[in-house]
Amino acid sequence: DDGQTNAARAHAGRAISANIGDVLVSCRGLRKSFGDREVMKSIDFDMRAGDITVIIGRSGSGKSTLLRAIAGLTDPDDGEMTFDGEVVFSEQKRTPAWKQVDSHVGMIFQSYTLWPHMDVLKNLTLAPRKRLGMSESESLERAKKALAEVGMSDHIRSKPVQLSGGERQRVAIARALMMQPKLLLCDEITSALDPPVAAEVLDVLRRLKEEEGIAVALVTHDMAFASKAADRVVFFHEGEIAVNATPDDAFNHTEDPELKKFVEAVR
Ligand code: ADP
Ligand code: MG
Repeated sequence: DDGQTNAARAHAGRAISANIGDVLVSCRGLRKSFGDREVMKSIDFDMRAGDITVIIGRSGSGKSTLLRAIAGLTDPDDGEMTFDGEVVFSEQKRTPAWKQVDSHVGMIFQSYTLWPHMDVLKNLTLAPRKRLGMSESESLERAKKALAEVGMSDHIRSKPVQLSGGERQRVAIARALMMQPKLLLCDEITSALDPPVAAEVLDVLRRLKEEEGIAVALVTHDMAFASKAADRVVFFHEGEIAVNATPDDAFNHTEDPELKKFVEAVR
């Protein structure tokens, strides 16, 4: 027995079968329009278990739309998505296997508002207890482990207002870790932070990859992090993936004129 309550075990669904390096998420022909504006134009995109994928591109190029589609916050108009080898989206709808996505994918945003009147522990344990019926003791154990993983153990009784921006984002990561995700989707989570603070937060993601084998897809303008930590760099341009390469190829050997311009502009 691994100590999980029945509710939490049921929530977790079946265990992920993808090993590190295996394809975890596969998207084929994902399309999405808002009105007559096509913001994803037949996106083909794979993510491997344990990889860090950095997604870059101009504002409005479709980066958030892709992450939101993978997280299930918005449905594509067309295309197919598999998760851990099972078809989870096809023919304009989610399949029953979608529950694997709900169980194993977490998302964090630029301004993930923690509940201001609740301390850090309550912020972490509220949803698992209410939605999954997780026991108090299990939720406490998970919260302690999650806070240790993001270096925030000393703040378990702090209120969000007592924390810096970087600390709040680390708590937001810990909150996502409560569900023991295999994939974390991070949408500009360090954009409001000073560079050294942002670097600390991004370092947490790298540790989660190295120590827990969690895959991360991260929208960021931090090219230094992309260069040293990414397994893949994906460059969005006008709703299409213009480049999907290693950081070395993307930053040092690309022939793509738009990527060259983009890298020059953010440097
Ligand atoms: P990025 O994250 O790369 O800045 P987004 O994926 O957020 O880009 O947006 C791509 C385009 O889709 C933008 O032009 C944006 O205005 C538009 N868009 C995104 N979400 C919506 C929505 N819910 N309704 C209408 N237009 C949207
Ligand atoms: Mg965005």
